[in-house]
Amino acid sequence: MARFQAVEAFHRLADETVLLPMSFERIEGGRAVISNFVGDFLTVTDEELRRIVELDVAPGDGLYERAYEKLLISGRSQISRLQLIAARYRTRMAFANAGTGLHLFVVTLRCEHSCPYCQVSRRSADKNLFDMDEVTAQKALDMAFSSPSPQIKIEFQGGEPLLNFELIKKIVFWGEERSAELGKPVTFVITTNLALLNDEVLQFSKEHQILISTSLDGPKDLHNKNRPRPGGNSYELAVAGIDRIREFLGPDKVGALMTTTQSSLDRAKDIIDEYVDRDLGGIFLRPLSPYGFAIKTKQFARYKTDEWFEFYKTGLNYIFEINKAGKHFPEFYATNILRRMFSDRPTGYVDLRSPAGIGLGALVYNYDGRVFASDEGRMLAEMGDRTFDLGDVFTSSYEDIILSDKLVDLVANSLTQCAPQCRTCAFEPHCGADPVYHHATQGDEVGIKPLSEFCRRQKNMMALLLDILDNSPDEAAILRSWI
Ligand code: SF4
Repeated sequence: MARFQAVEAFHRLADETVLLPMSFERIEGGRAVISNFVGDFLTVTDEELRRIVELDVAPGDGLYERAYEKLLISGRSQISRLQLIAARYRTRMAFANAGTGLHLFVVTLRCEHSCPYCQVSRRSADKNLFDMDEVTAQKALDMAFSSPSPQIKIEFQGGEPLLNFELIKKIVFWGEERSAELGKPVTFVITTNLALLNDEVLQFSKEHQILISTSLDGPKDLHNKNRPRPGGNSYELAVAGIDRIREFLGPDKVGALMTTTQSSLDRAKDIIDEYVDRDLGGIFLRPLSPYGFAIKTKQFARYKTDEWFEFYKTGLNYIFEINKAGKHFPEFYATNILRRMFSDRPTGYVDLRSPAGIGLGALVYNYDGRVFASDEGRMLAEMGDRTFDLGDVFTSSYEDIILSDKLVDLVANSLTQCAPQCRTCAFEPHCGADPVYHHATQGDEVGIKPLSEFCRRQKNMMALLLDILDNSPDEAAILRSWI
């Protein structure tokens, strides 16, 4: 007696094949990317795309199996496959339930640097009018600890926050007291140019496990050109500060970010070498944001997304060489997108979220007590545009701010799932929304995506990563090692 039934017996069980929710995008070389609702990708030829869309596929022809595995097609009665998509979608969106975890305290607008691309519209260092006071800080802490988030991260921003270090110390003490009372863990980060780093700051940071985030734009000549200060020694102070923090607090206690200016565009390798030489553990090849002094000084208009993308590709290829030589050195823009592509875990990176991180992911407490939906929204307000100004810490509660019509409208407008063009875009599951960017550049939070440099950058990035994953096995292995 045969152990298994003949193959035809199983064909009776086969269902009518149906399409699952999906989108596609044509890419170079007569190919197309198809993605499902939760961002599984399949790259196909135009002819294969036609066959899938017309359901001209059958078990055993190879294409059927590829499309079935990626949850692009299903049997009509296979409800479990829809349930699987729904469960994965719920997991990916879990961040929307979590409450605001990141709270940015702008303890001063003063700064002793005068960077032309500055996003903050800094004030010169001698104007005490622009410091946060203790009452405002206490009220901001009330609001931060009212968030239902199970843990709170407080990040001190400026200007240069170390110009108001006395207030930082008090906020850390008060924050730790409230954390103990409420049983809600709190962590602290100081974002500083390191020019004012001293023994007291280091000792205090050690005692309170404070992380330090700084800016390093590349080698000495480039950094000092991008980041002028009296004495012209921003680079010397920054690298000396990084070395001291690594030695005194530990190598994992300091992180650095670079900003790409026009002067950076042909210096990708030099910039990366600087990060490798300082053992900074990776680099984020970050484009310039269209806010604050970057617009006033016309820095933002000085290069286009395509120019940045050429810079990015040069940098990424060089980073592959470094990794092939045996050094684990990730590029963080790619890493953040890849994490979205390869995992259903809710992203902690607010720029790749839909709905956007405005208010839900982060709140910003300005020196004067005004509350903003994002740091970029605060920068726009310094330029006179109060679109992302949500209220103040004196007259509003956390609930008032989060449930305000203004924030609800802004969040609703940030949903790529239903935005024109995004709704049918194959890259939507991993893209994220940037309503502040589109408001700043197009005067509308939703924006016209075909005209959006943000959209162009995101599409270029995701198409590049998919091309590498499909066609360059060695580089694909390196990308996978970063996540
Ligand atoms: S912004 Fe562009 S790339 Fe992103 S989802 Fe919308 S259309 Fe797609």
